[in-house]
Amino acid sequence: MKGMNRRGFVRASAAVAAAAMTRPAIAAPAQDAPDSGRVRRFKPLGKTGWRVGDVSAGSGQRDPAVLNYIFESGINLIDTGFQYAGHEELVGKVLPKWRDKVFVLDKWDPPLVTATVTKSALLEALDVSLQRLNTTYVDCMMLHSIGHPRYGGLERIQNPAIYEAWDEAKRLGKVRFTGASSHGVRMIEDMNWGLDNNRFDLILIGANFLTHGAEPLLKKARAKGVGTIAMKTMTTYKSDLNIQALQNEQTNARQACLKWILASDLFDTLVVSMPNYDRVAEYLAVSGTTSLTARDERYLRTVAAAVGPRYCRPGCGACHGACPHGVPVADILRYKMYFEDYGEEKFAMQRYGLVPASTRPSRCAGCAAPCEAACPYGLRVRERLSEADRQLRFA
Ligand code: SF4
Ligand code: SF4
Repeated sequence: MKGMNRRGFVRASAAVAAAAMTRPAIAAPAQDAPDSGRVRRFKPLGKTGWRVGDVSAGSGQRDPAVLNYIFESGINLIDTGFQYAGHEELVGKVLPKWRDKVFVLDKWDPPLVTATVTKSALLEALDVSLQRLNTTYVDCMMLHSIGHPRYGGLERIQNPAIYEAWDEAKRLGKVRFTGASSHGVRMIEDMNWGLDNNRFDLILIGANFLTHGAEPLLKKARAKGVGTIAMKTMTTYKSDLNIQALQNEQTNARQACLKWILASDLFDTLVVSMPNYDRVAEYLAVSGTTSLTARDERYLRTVAAAVGPRYCRPGCGACHGACPHGVPVADILRYKMYFEDYGEEKFAMQRYGLVPASTRPSRCAGCAAPCEAACPYGLRVRERLSEADRQLRFA
């Protein structure tokens, strides 16, 4: 750990969070009594029967000891997937010790799931993931990145082989529940199809205090007993580190972003990348939040002013189709975010490398930028795309 040691950090973060909480929510189970570095609130995860902590773990770890610390802290859902290089294997190193205490949410590799993929191919891929995870079952197997034009249209998730594979996997005891994740431009449409056709037990969607439009979908999910999980909760993730006005604050804007999700009560839980002890402690410190303080709201206003004009919202498809050259605006701006805010430079450049040359921002020169006219958030899309091309292109 860098800087403050773990205990000191936990104490400082907990003090801030305790001051921020004005009333307790659902009582945690007795074995999870409030503690400086533990999950403080548990909620039903849809109709799964699982009581999930309000703060759950995304990927990002490199060290199995961090995963053990996460689970020792009472976090009882881990979000992983085939696509997160090496993460299933890392989870597999500690999972046997925690198997009945942790809800494992896994995902097929997005390019695998097509309109023509076969049931046997899906089941084989599931077996590979089970082997990597060092377990005989996952609690939820998800379709990953639905509503994402790169991987196909709605017909992709209408493939009956998917549902035959899920049924077979459930029958064999390899999968308990099923669902889908998305932060794509057709997130709302594809998720609605899945809900209307009773295909999902859980949905995992990109949402935070700067996104809008998912509330009816979430309401429908709740009415059907479908569990709701938020991801991309941090907007640009490292935003507070780049905002001068927040440099000397005792807490940080990342916590305020998480608290907004918790206080909204729109979700059963949220998943957030927890790469190290500091981040685990920082995020646990806001567990139990049911309302925002005036200071949280001030942080969020500061973040909105700094980030809002350059932040391409997950799940927003407003400019999709506006570009006459088919430039995948939302994808490229997301890779840019990975590069400059997440510190995932290599991954961002690899993803950008998959964008065909014919649809890269070189097409923007001399264009009247109808994409900008279509953006409800006033993003200077053309300028941001040109910057992205300079950052992400291999020399
Ligand atoms: S500025 Fe670029 S992304 Fe926007 S419409 Fe023109 S070519 Fe497409
Ligand atoms: S650029 Fe604007 S309109 Fe396009 S996806 Fe991003 S936020 Fe939505």
